[in-house]
Amino acid sequence: MTRPNNLRADQVQPPQPQVAPVAPSSPVPLRPLHTFGLESYADRLVQIDSTAALHAYANDVENGQGCLLLGEGSNTVFVSDAFRGTVYSMALKGRQYLGCKSGKHRFRVMAGENWHQFVEWTVASGFPGLENLALIPGSVGASPVQNIGAYGLEMCEVTEAVHVFDLQTRQFSVMSAAECRFAYRDSIFKQELAGRCVITAVDFALPVEWTPRLEYGDVKARALAMGELKPINVMKSIIGIRTEKLPDPVCLGNAGSFFKNPIVPDALFQKVVADHPALPNYPSIPGHRKLAAGWLIEQSGLKGFNLGRVGVYNKQALILVNLGGGQSSELLDLIAHVQSTVKAKFGVELEAEPNLVG
Ligand SMILES: Cc1cc2nc3c(=O)[nH]c(=O)nc-3n(C[C@H](O)[C@H](O)[C@H](O)COP(=O)(O)OP(=O)(O)OC[C@H]3O[C@@H](n4cnc5c(N)ncnc54)[C@H](O)[C@@H]3O)c2cc1C
Repeated sequence: MTRPNNLRADQVQPPQPQVAPVAPSSPVPLRPLHTFGLESYADRLVQIDSTAALHAYANDVENGQGCLLLGEGSNTVFVSDAFRGTVYSMALKGRQYLGCKSGKHRFRVMAGENWHQFVEWTVASGFPGLENLALIPGSVGASPVQNIGAYGLEMCEVTEAVHVFDLQTRQFSVMSAAECRFAYRDSIFKQELAGRCVITAVDFALPVEWTPRLEYGDVKARALAMGELKPINVMKSIIGIRTEKLPDPVCLGNAGSFFKNPIVPDALFQKVVADHPALPNYPSIPGHRKLAAGWLIEQSGLKGFNLGRVGVYNKQALILVNLGGGQSSELLDLIAHVQSTVKAKFGVELEAEPNLVG
C-alpha cells in the first residue's frame, strides 16, 4: 500500500456526526438492509458517516465484538434469525470531478454513494464509459470487493485507485488498481484484506475517447433502435435487458446470481461433457474449465422449484428468490438442495456467491 495520498478526514462527508449506538436491548431489523429481505435482527446499527465512526468500528474489531460492514446489502444474506453484534452501514457520501489528465476524466466517489446513481450521473454529465455497468445494485464502496462486472466491462478497467481505512493500523491509505489484485469477481478485499479494511472512496478514470462495448447480446441493436449509437442509448439498452432478465429486489427479494460459475478440473469437465454435449463451458485457469452454474441448475430440473417461501427464480435458474416472508432456515435448506441435486447429477460442487451471514 502506498501512503502519500491519504484521504483527508475532511473528505469524509458529511463530517462530524458522532456515533450514537442504539441500546443493545433494541434489536435492529435487518430485513430492509439486505435485498434478499429475510427476517433477521442485529443488536445495533451504526452509520459510518465520519472518521469517528470508522474508529468506533476499529475499536469493536480490536475488542473482538461481533461486527459487520454493510453497503446496500445486495451481496449479503442474513441466514440466521439474529446477528449478535453491530452492523456498520456505509454512509460516506460525496462525488467529485477531479479534472481531465492524460486523456481521462477523473472522479473520486465516496463509498456510501449508490453505484447506479453514480453511473447515471456520469453518463448524463457527458462522461461515458460506465454505461455497461448500469443498474447493478449496491454501493460504490463494495464495487471493488468483487470487482463488479456486466456486459463486457469490469469496474477494475476504469478504476485508478481505492482509498482504504486500515482497521488494525487505523491509517488511511490509497491503493493502486494493481495493488487491489482485481480478478474475475475477486480482489484483495475478498482475500488477504477481507475484514481488514474499510473502502472509503474509489477513484475512477474514464477515457475521453468513447469506445462502446457492444459485443454482448443485443445491446447494439437496442441502442440503434433508439435512433443513435450514443452512451445514453447504450445505458438504456443495458437497463432494458437487465429489467427483463433480473427480478427487481424491491418486488422480489434476491441477491443476484446466487452461485458462482464452478471451475472444474479438465478430467471432470471431459466426464460431464461426454454425457451432456450441450454443456456450456468457458476457458479458465490452466487445466480447468468454467461451467455455467445456471445451466447446471436448470438441467437438474430446479428452475421454478420452491421450498416454502423461497425458490429458484422461474425465469433464471441462477437466482434464488424470496417469495415473501421467506425464512432463513428455508433458504439454507434450498441452498443445500440445489447443491446436492447438482452434485448428484453432474458431480459438480456449487458454491454460494453472496456473503452468507449467520
Ligand atoms: C438483482 C441483482 C443483480 C446483480 N447483478 C450483478 C452484476 O451484474 N454484476 C456483479 O458483479 N454483481 C451483481 N450483483 C451483486 C451486487 O450488486 C454487487 O456485489 C455489489 O457490489 C454489492 O454492493 P453492496 O453495497 O450491496 O454490498 P454488500 O452486500 O453490502 O456487501 C458485500 C460485501 O462487501 C463488503 N463491503 C461493503 N462495503 C464495503 C466497504 N465500503 N469497504 C469494504 N468492504 C465492504 C461487505 O462487508 C460484504 O462482505 C447483483 C445483485 C443483485 C441483487
